[in-house]
Amino acid sequence: MTLQVHDLCVQYSAQTVLQLEHAHWECGQLGAVIGPNGCGKTTLLKAIAGVLPSTGQVQWQGRELSPALRPQVLAYMPQDNQASQGLTVLEVVLLGRLRQLGVRVSTADRQGVYQVLERLGISHLAGRSLHQLSGGQRQLVWLAQALLAQPQVLLLDEPTSALDMEHQLQVLQLLRDLAHQHGLCVVVVLHDLAAVARFADTVLALQQGCLHSQGAAADMLQPDCLAQLFRVQVDMLQGFDGLLIPVPRCAILV
Ligand code: ADP
Repeated sequence: MTLQVHDLCVQYSAQTVLQLEHAHWECGQLGAVIGPNGCGKTTLLKAIAGVLPSTGQVQWQGRELSPALRPQVLAYMPQDNQASQGLTVLEVVLLGRLRQLGVRVSTADRQGVYQVLERLGISHLAGRSLHQLSGGQRQLVWLAQALLAQPQVLLLDEPTSALDMEHQLQVLQLLRDLAHQHGLCVVVVLHDLAAVARFADTVLALQQGCLHSQGAAADMLQPDCLAQLFRVQVDMLQGFDGLLIPVPRCAILV
């Protein structure tokens, strides 16, 4: 079971910012999307999520991911979400099940929200307005909304960028569990290469709107590849568990 894109192209004002011949992600795996600023990571997720017009094909299990099928299959968490500031956390998260909600919100609907909030350690925030939260707390609320939708595909744009270390690890562990234990296809834009090394099964690297390379995380996170991609020299440090982790040493100046 696979999420695939073919000949995916996105243009802004006639300028092509993403041109991807082929890429794919498997169920049961966490796929990281990496690359320098402006290379098209957000554009790629938006195009797959259908929130940005694109040409080409996005397929799920061999079928075109039509506008009708998309909300049944995937949930997308954007990087920067300023929407719904006046709503409470409970209301915002409930919107994750908008398609299933009736005229009245049932007890089961509320319980579902609380379960997700508890999983993310933020059930105490349920009654608070979104604008009363910190950036990190808001990020967890948007993640809760995406999880409540119970998607088969989770598209997350830098979901840990505002989180402290503990919450970063909790969220990444949760995402990896959702992939490995519950069979979700999880696609995450990440800047933290140590997190990519520790949590991602596969890596897709973009460069100037095109595919640089895609493969197993351990094969992709090599000094040569990272030097080409980010113009930095990296050291590979070994963790106590034996995992090799890329640590940036210096920028390659020209
Ligand atoms: P990344 O997520 O890798 O940092 P983006 O996908 O956000 O990059 O952007 C890819 C390219 O598209 C960049 O060159 C960016 O300047 C451009 N871009 C993004 N949004 C717009 C927009 N609304 N109008 C025009 N160009 C845009």
